[in-house]
Amino acid sequence: MTDIRIPDTIKPVDGRFGSGPSKVRPEGVESLSAVSRTFLGTSHRQRTVKDQVARLRRGLAEFFSMPEGYEVVVANGGTSAFWEVATFGLVRDRAQFAEFGEFGAKFVKAVRDAPFLAEPTVHHAPGGQAAFLEAEAGIDVYASVQNETSTGVAVPVRRVPGADQGALLLTDATSGGGSLDVDLRETDVYYLAPQKALGSDGGLWMALMSPAAIERAFEIKRSGRYIPQFLDLVTAIEQSRLEQTYNTPALATVFLAAEQLDWMNSQGGLPWAVKRSAESAAAVYGWAERSAYATPFVTDPAIRSAAVATIDFEGVDAAAIAKVLRANDIVDTEPYRKLGRNQLRVALYPTIEPSDVAALTACVDYVAERL
Ligand SMILES: *Cc1c(COP(=O)(O)O)cnc(C)c1O
Repeated sequence: MTDIRIPDTIKPVDGRFGSGPSKVRPEGVESLSAVSRTFLGTSHRQRTVKDQVARLRRGLAEFFSMPEGYEVVVANGGTSAFWEVATFGLVRDRAQFAEFGEFGAKFVKAVRDAPFLAEPTVHHAPGGQAAFLEAEAGIDVYASVQNETSTGVAVPVRRVPGADQGALLLTDATSGGGSLDVDLRETDVYYLAPQKALGSDGGLWMALMSPAAIERAFEIKRSGRYIPQFLDLVTAIEQSRLEQTYNTPALATVFLAAEQLDWMNSQGGLPWAVKRSAESAAAVYGWAERSAYATPFVTDPAIRSAAVATIDFEGVDAAAIAKVLRANDIVDTEPYRKLGRNQLRVALYPTIEPSDVAALTACVDYVAERL
């Protein structure tokens, strides 16, 4: 089966379609290589590195058209660490979640497990559908995922009408940020990690925070709640203002993310990136709708993600296709493990060429016909 050789003429130029870690532009790696002797292996408390942290923070602010008063906060540990940071440093007492997949569920668990917080409200939807937030008295943090990477469901970033005065909205934009449109005035914390649309490596979390969210972090800190030092949001805010991180960051990750943001900003910023991801989405969903054996897993087109596509297969073994693709250097099209479906998952981040996504669909057809 893995003997099937896909002709080079139909193969994508770059075979990386993983939803995270995802494709890193070779141009970024070349730029990193060019500064390897002056940047890598140098102190993160000195100008050389601090300039790159500053470039990363500026790049994010420009790319997301950050409103006046919002701040970019950067620290170590990736989005998984940010969930703990938010549990300790942003939820005052009661949170409400819209949870419709594995990633959303992990934040719910962090809050549920915290002995100092009340039991959260959770609006749950099964895989392939979306759940939504609803105004509820006493809720001080609302949390949703912009793009649920485990299922390929995306929802708009919107404030909760009727929410209590001062309630915060936290948006997990780890995979949606950079592929999907957003108006940051509609949320208080838009947080992400660099290994998805930002085409860098993992290990950092980045949050674009509103003045209300920053104030909340200081308020909770003042309350005397025990907060582990590594997860202290106030420390992260203060360190970010100095263009550094509390502890040593992955310097290559910082550089590659800053490089990628400069590239995306020079191409036309978020509107350009959103359009490019939408082109890739049109290529893959259009193909699936025409196909005799493939269909988009997310049946409602309104919540079908333009950041990560999930495609169900019937009568053809998707795992076998993914295996043959991998043997032909087309990698990471396997679905999210726990979803347990006969499907392929394809990242549509702006780093990925829409023409490569179209080429991928031709390769899937080529393999399916020969299995
Ligand atoms: C990848 C992902 C995460 C986890 O990010 P880490 O940096 O690996 O912790 C969280 N949420 C979403 C939506 C993701 O896609």
